[in-house]
Amino acid sequence: MSEQTTILHSIPVDELTGAISVPIYQTSTYVQDAPGVNKGYDYARSNNPTRKALEDLIAKLENGTNGYAFASGLAAIDAVIKLLQAGDEIVAVDDIYGGAFRLFTHVYEKFGITVTYVDTTDAENVLNAITPKTKLIWIESPTNPTLKISDIEAIGKIAKASNVLLCVDNTFASPAAQKPINYGADIVVHSATKYLAGHSDLIAGLVVTATPELGEKIKFIQNASGAILAPFDSWLVIRGIETLSLRIKQHSENAQAIAEFLTTQPLIKNVYYPGLPTHKNHAIAAEQLKYFGGVVTFDLKIDDKQLATDIVSNTKLFKLAESLGGVKSLLCLPCEMTHKSIPVEKRYAAGVTDSLIRLSVGIEDVEDLIADLQQAIELATKNHNAKQQVFTA
Ligand SMILES: *Cc1c(COP(=O)(O)O)cnc(C)c1O
Repeated sequence: MSEQTTILHSIPVDELTGAISVPIYQTSTYVQDAPGVNKGYDYARSNNPTRKALEDLIAKLENGTNGYAFASGLAAIDAVIKLLQAGDEIVAVDDIYGGAFRLFTHVYEKFGITVTYVDTTDAENVLNAITPKTKLIWIESPTNPTLKISDIEAIGKIAKASNVLLCVDNTFASPAAQKPINYGADIVVHSATKYLAGHSDLIAGLVVTATPELGEKIKFIQNASGAILAPFDSWLVIRGIETLSLRIKQHSENAQAIAEFLTTQPLIKNVYYPGLPTHKNHAIAAEQLKYFGGVVTFDLKIDDKQLATDIVSNTKLFKLAESLGGVKSLLCLPCEMTHKSIPVEKRYAAGVTDSLIRLSVGIEDVEDLIADLQQAIELATKNHNAKQQVFTA
């Protein structure tokens, strides 16, 4: 069965009423027949049928055994780190999501967990960074915002051989494009805020494990720490996932066309999109990803923040906002927004220049999106040239 058919028919019909949409169980507790005798549900932090439907769905989509839903992507990441203890080490991708960096460095280092950041696009770097204390390898692929791709299968083999867990943050790809457990990952996490929910209308996180044993450990942490996803938000994520394959296909087709358009623009220096043959990791991307995704990043030949600001301020369809993965197109200037807290040298080393613009390409008709970018680029160029003439006059 195709992915889209599987998704739609993995969502159970309600046994009590036949409701085709999963009922929202808005309850905190469940009435028991006798003390300790219940219908499998006792308290809603521990278990909720709506949340359970989402958890089973994401486990199936990611080809894992167990799934768990959290109040945010960061709460999901937090639950995975809680598998570790003081003295343990993490080897993580250097291009890591800023919020994960903040959590690892400013919360968990305090508790005696240390992190080594390496360029995981070369699996050798991961192998070289592993010490006897390493318990977890943490990668994202594609990364944010320059969409670097790591070879999950190669890193999975290193993890197995070293008896270290491999966790993949699969937010940018989504399971419609990439299933890390198939390549040897032990754990997959998602910010479901992005493509899974898909409509820029909630914050949610998910964890999927490759084995029931790991699943039980995450379940324990989910219940013990309590950062669960609410029933209504669980329902919205399920509703989003119903159209995941369709959306990812459209996001990716649009993004590919836009990336190709951007490469023809004289003002633009680099276009980062794994679907372009010029992308550094295109070969592994083509092997590993079914779709190249909806994020496209580019920078300008004139590395000028004002010029880039002019572009992002003059689009009409692409709305200026952080986040990504929704049906409506967004764009942002990472140096002033998502990556503002990173020191300038470190930011430039990661390719995040002052003129770098990140697009989250939506599912609008692509001709409209290209026309929108074209007029914003032309307008900004005109303003820039006019200013240059004032200076030289
Ligand atoms: C947004 C994001 C997160 C954090 O998710 P929240 O839902 O915002 O807590 C983690 N990883 C990646 C790759 C993200 O893009």
